[in-house]
Amino acid sequence: MSQSPAVWTLLTAARLLDGSGEPPLEGAALLIEDGRIAHIGPRSDVRAPSGARVHQVDYGDATILPGLVDAHTHLVAPGDGSPGDDLALEGEDLLLLRGVANARTTLHSGVTTVRDNGAKGRVAISLREGIRRGLVAGPRTVICGRPITMTGGHMYYFGSEADGVDAVRAEVRKLLKEGADYIKIVASGGSTRTSDPRRASYTVGELWAITDEAHRHGKLTAAHCSCAQSIENCLEAEVDMIVHCVFAEPDGTFSLRPDLVDRLVASGAWVNPTLYILRAAKEYVTARREREGGLTHQHEALLQGAGRELEVRMEAVGKMIRAGVKLCAGSDSPWLWYAPGGFVHEIEILAEAGLSNGEAIVSATSGSAESIGVGPVAGRLAPDRQADVLVVAGDPTRDLSSLWQVLDIYQAGRCVERGIR
Ligand SMILES: [Zn+2]
Repeated sequence: MSQSPAVWTLLTAARLLDGSGEPPLEGAALLIEDGRIAHIGPRSDVRAPSGARVHQVDYGDATILPGLVDAHTHLVAPGDGSPGDDLALEGEDLLLLRGVANARTTLHSGVTTVRDNGAKGRVAISLREGIRRGLVAGPRTVICGRPITMTGGHMYYFGSEADGVDAVRAEVRKLLKEGADYIKIVASGGSTRTSDPRRASYTVGELWAITDEAHRHGKLTAAHCSCAQSIENCLEAEVDMIVHCVFAEPDGTFSLRPDLVDRLVASGAWVNPTLYILRAAKEYVTARREREGGLTHQHEALLQGAGRELEVRMEAVGKMIRAGVKLCAGSDSPWLWYAPGGFVHEIEILAEAGLSNGEAIVSATSGSAESIGVGPVAGRLAPDRQADVLVVAGDPTRDLSSLWQVLDIYQAGRCVERGIR
C-alpha cells in the first residue's frame, strides 16, 4: 500500500512578522507540513522536499503574521449594548448559539486564539468543546467557565457566587472539575446593577484563597478591577492579570496611584486595559444623537461619563507603558457596545495610548498568548509550532489599520473558508 504523499503549503509575501517583536523578515516564505510550521526564511531558502506536492500561495505586498490572540472576550454577549443583567436572562441554549456565531465572526477577523472571560452556566465549556471537536468554526478558546464573584457582585448572574475563604476555594475546585483553564475573579463591582464598580468586592483573604487554590493546580488567575482598592487587594493576593485596571476611588474620581504602578511592575502582573469598549459606547451614543436629534438623560450621562473615563484611562495606560508595566491586548468584546470581530480597534487604541505599532502587535500576539498561558503554542510563528497564521494586505508595522485587510487565515495549516471569495 502506498502512502499518500504529505501535502505541503508554501506561503510567500513581502514580509513576515513572527510575533516576537523582531523587525519584519522581507521577501519571506513560510512552509507548512501537516498543520505545523516546517520552515520560515527568505524565499530563496525555503523549499518543500523535491517531488513533494506543494500548494503555493503568493500574497504579494502583504504581511504574514501569527493569528491574533484576544486575551479577553465574552462570546455570549451580543455586542449591541445589552447589559449583562439582561443577556443573562436568556437560556443557555440560545446563549450557546450566539457564542457559536461570535466565535466564527472572531475567527474570520483573524483571531485564532481567545480567552473567554466568563459566560453563563456551562455555555463556555460547551462552546470550547464544540470548537475542539470541529463541530463549529472558532478560535482556540481558553475559558474560565464562569467568573467567581461575591453575592450580588458583578456577573453574579452567570452562576458562580461565593463568599468567604472556604466557599471561594470550593468554587475554584468546582470550576476546575468542570474544565476551567484559568480562574476569573471579580475583585470589584462592575456594570451589574447590584454592584458598585468603584468599590472592591472580595477581601484580600478571599482573594488569597482563590489564587492559592488556582496556583496549587497550576492555573492562572485574572481579576476584574475597576477601582484602585481592588487593584491593591489583587496585588496583595498575587493575581496574575489585572483586568481593566481602573484607578477609581469610591467617590467616582480617578487618580493614578504611582505606588500601585510600581507594584504592578515589580510583581510582573499583566494588565489588560480594555480601552476601546469605552469608545464603542461613545460612538454608539453619538450616532444615536445624530440619528434622533437628541439624547435621553441616561444616554447623555453615559456619553459624558465614557468620554471622561476614556481620557483618564488613556493617560493612565500611557504612564503604565512608560513605567514598564506588561500590557496585553484583550478586547472585552462583544460586551456592551463592542461588536464582535473588531479586536483590531483595541490594538489601535493601545498604540494611541503609547505603544509603538510593533509593540501593539506583540501585545496582541506573543504578549497576549503569554499572558493567558498559551505562549508555547500561540502568538508566534516558529518551526514545529501549529500553523495558526494571519495574512493581511500591506504592512501593519507602518500602519496598524492594515490588520483590518485580512487576506487569509490559517488554522493548523488549513485555510479558513470565509465564504467571501
Ligand atoms: Zn470582561
